[in-house]
Amino acid sequence: MLGCPRSSKPGIVGKLNMASADIVVIGSGHNGLVAAAYLAAAGKRVQVLERNAWFGGGVVTRELTVPGFRHDQHSMAHIFIHANPLLANDDLRLKSKYGLKYTFPELPMMSVFEDGTTLGLYRDRERTVAEIAKFSKKDAESYRKLADQAAAWLPMIVSTLYSPPMPQGASAAMMDQSREGREISRVMQMSTHDLLARYFEHDKVRMHFGRVAGENLVSPDEKATGIGTFVFVGFLEAYGIGVPIGGSGKLTDALIACIKDHGGEVLSGIDIDRVIVNKGRAVGAHAKDGRDFTAKDAVIGALHPHVLGRMVPGIDPAVVADAEATEVSPVACITVHAALNGPLKFKAGDAVRAVMIELLPNKYETLRRSFDDMRYGGFSSYPLVGLGSLTMFDPSRVPAGKATMHAWDYVPYSRNDGRSWDETKRAYADHMIKHMGKFIDGLPENIIQYHCDSPVDMERTSPSFKGGDLHGVATTSYQLGSHRPTPDLGQMTVPGVERLYLVGPFQHPGGGVFGAGRAAALKAAEDLGLPFA
Ligand SMILES: Cc1cc2nc3c(=O)[nH]c(=O)nc-3n(C[C@H](O)[C@H](O)[C@H](O)COP(=O)(O)OP(=O)(O)OC[C@H]3O[C@@H](n4cnc5c(N)ncnc54)[C@H](O)[C@@H]3O)c2cc1C
Repeated sequence: MLGCPRSSKPGIVGKLNMASADIVVIGSGHNGLVAAAYLAAAGKRVQVLERNAWFGGGVVTRELTVPGFRHDQHSMAHIFIHANPLLANDDLRLKSKYGLKYTFPELPMMSVFEDGTTLGLYRDRERTVAEIAKFSKKDAESYRKLADQAAAWLPMIVSTLYSPPMPQGASAAMMDQSREGREISRVMQMSTHDLLARYFEHDKVRMHFGRVAGENLVSPDEKATGIGTFVFVGFLEAYGIGVPIGGSGKLTDALIACIKDHGGEVLSGIDIDRVIVNKGRAVGAHAKDGRDFTAKDAVIGALHPHVLGRMVPGIDPAVVADAEATEVSPVACITVHAALNGPLKFKAGDAVRAVMIELLPNKYETLRRSFDDMRYGGFSSYPLVGLGSLTMFDPSRVPAGKATMHAWDYVPYSRNDGRSWDETKRAYADHMIKHMGKFIDGLPENIIQYHCDSPVDMERTSPSFKGGDLHGVATTSYQLGSHRPTPDLGQMTVPGVERLYLVGPFQHPGGGVFGAGRAAALKAAEDLGLPFA
């Protein structure tokens, strides 16, 4: 039997020597697994509990359509994890021992405009400069300046991403000490659009970089997103986008192999409904089926701020109220995963071989207005379809000669026509595919079968993706850094409950495959007096 017998008093476990493990981790998303793997490597007995029948949360590869076609159901592009010491130093030997392999295509991102023109963002700066020069020589020179600045700021940005965030006051005071710090501070307050208007004159060049902000589920007009352009360009030039060989889920597989190798357990089908708290300290997790999983040292949880108060007894009501009030983006995500008879044929030609391919209108204003439509709860007037066909780079995921496509678009979570997503998602997917036909030949004939996840399905696969927000809570200025998701919870800890650590896209540094569970492991290791890898 897994875990310990149900305790007689709900929520209370008296005998710590009955513990199932030293550390219980709620949720097998990559962040929970990263935290678990670091602590297992530091000598702790960890037990990871997952509600789904599969592991990995947003980092999974599954046969969603036809047997033999393996699709990355959620994340497909691993960008920010490569600077994490987890992979940069191979701290836990995921690459050297547990089989994790990446390929880094030369062209991480390309915009394909409806009129057939294209703009690629290469790892090689001169190739990007040449691409931008097709539209504006002045903008090509401006890109050099932007990319220089991004490269100069990158080490400072990287140093903030994989550990608990610096308190906002201290961070502001530190930045205020130098001219460069003050400039970063200023850029951090600008919208992406305001920043782009300073650097670039051409509509399509602005739209290309503006679309990058959209990947954070925000309009380029959202204030305090300007720094994102520097982060993206800096990362893309320095690291590119990693395509995991075999699929996104190979990161999950490597983490699980590491945990098991260090004596840990990773268990599926266990839906936790409450953290067990005794005398102000987290001592385990209670499952919906009645089982208790007790933890001698600590509990780590993928607990969305909206459910924190319900799942953790004894938190100050003011802390709970602020957590419940965190804002989820009005821009939710819908995805289409297709098994294809053969590679995609772009009308713009074979040069369209990027990890992320953005299908864009001819006018930047159309993109900006589409985000405005969603601000008021409506559908965007122009579909903002992005896609990846990673079999271009990793054919091992499909039978010989075949291919896959992963396309996404942005929609409201609650439809303003009152209809349910379960009822309407396939009609919407067909509308997306029809739109893609403006850019790609042979659709829909090339599709053998497709699978569609509506924003509601996304929330079903992981409670982190609340309201179809793939970053858990919105990427707005007041929910960032040490204030993500709230000032109380920004240090990955919960005031009033010791030894409980939070992981999730709703924590710093935000949504994406960052391996940010490292920060929670650092916090726990510090409290437990453990050496850290
Ligand atoms: C469609 C889509 C596309 C994306 N594309 C990209 C991309 O290309 N690149 C990128 O960097 N990021 C991408 N992301 C974002 C990325 O997938 C997430 O930010 C990341 O997976 C978050 O990891 P996590 O471990 O924090 O949480 P999650 O992956 O959400 O994992 C949480 C896990 O905990 C489990 N869990 C939660 N509560 C309980 C409970 N009570 N009991 C038991 N188990 C529980 C869940 O079932 C889940 O398995 C995408 C997300 C989506 C939805």
